[in-house]
Amino acid sequence: MANSPKFTIDGLKATIEGKEILKGLSIEIKGGEVHAVMGPNGTGKSTLASTIMGHPKYEVTDGSITLDGEDILEMGVDERARAGLFLAMQYPSEIAGVTNADFLRSAINARREEGQEISLIKFIRLMEAKMKELEMNPEFAHRYLNEGFSGGEKKRNEILQMLLLEPRLVILDEIDSGLDIDALRIVATGVNAMRSEDRGFLIITHYQRLLNYIKPDFVHVMMQGRIVKSGGPELAERLENEGYDWVKEELGIVDETVGQDTEEFKIPMNTTAPKY
Ligand code: ADP
Ligand code: MG
Repeated sequence: MANSPKFTIDGLKATIEGKEILKGLSIEIKGGEVHAVMGPNGTGKSTLASTIMGHPKYEVTDGSITLDGEDILEMGVDERARAGLFLAMQYPSEIAGVTNADFLRSAINARREEGQEISLIKFIRLMEAKMKELEMNPEFAHRYLNEGFSGGEKKRNEILQMLLLEPRLVILDEIDSGLDIDALRIVATGVNAMRSEDRGFLIITHYQRLLNYIKPDFVHVMMQGRIVKSGGPELAERLENEGYDWVKEELGIVDETVGQDTEEFKIPMNTTAPKY
């Protein structure tokens, strides 16, 4: 596949305000693959998403992130977006004074070469078609970005951005939170329609529910800022039925969270993190 991406994180460590949150995380995502990263709250999942996107608060202290062999860590936030990385945020920000349509058009054009910008007419047609797919009220195009949107509307708006930007690596951070079952189904349909060899997916979720609609190829459990267990879809099902305690017991993990002050010696010496 000429355009099939390969996204690799190897031994990633990252700190925020001097606290180490990511503690040697590795994952490899190829075009066509859907990877689910699951874990209880406070295990570093959103930190992983923000670090990949280059949020300035997070400092990478070790390891590498590459897309098709290109060093992502060398790139600024806008360059990462241009390279095709996309994050649907757990808590999307509201931006007063910028309409959704303006924002989306700028975002599309930022990924295009100069002179290749999308025309206004084409953009409007495209946006309206995608909004219809997501059963969004057309008025949302002209509202300020996320301002006064409900939780579910913000999440749908994130998926709208994904549909329009056609990224090469899609990261969804708890896209299911705040969604009722109908909205969840619509969002999942949008995501599934985007599945192709041209892009990979990293789906971060606390609950298995989302994975009934978006079938993952690989499931990873995150604890203490690392991937501690990997498997196929059956791993998500077991987590749904039995919760996370059995993973902790199996690996001898007492406290799965990361970034607290008491965490020294939390990771037993015999716990080796699986690679990929
Ligand atoms: P998850 O998404 O798995 O719930 P997070 O990555 O949001 O976990 O958070 C993991 C830990 O990282 C938190 O418990 C907190 O200690 C720390 N952390 C994350 N973001 C920040 C931040 N902006 N400022 C300070 N600490 C943070
Ligand atoms: Mg989170």
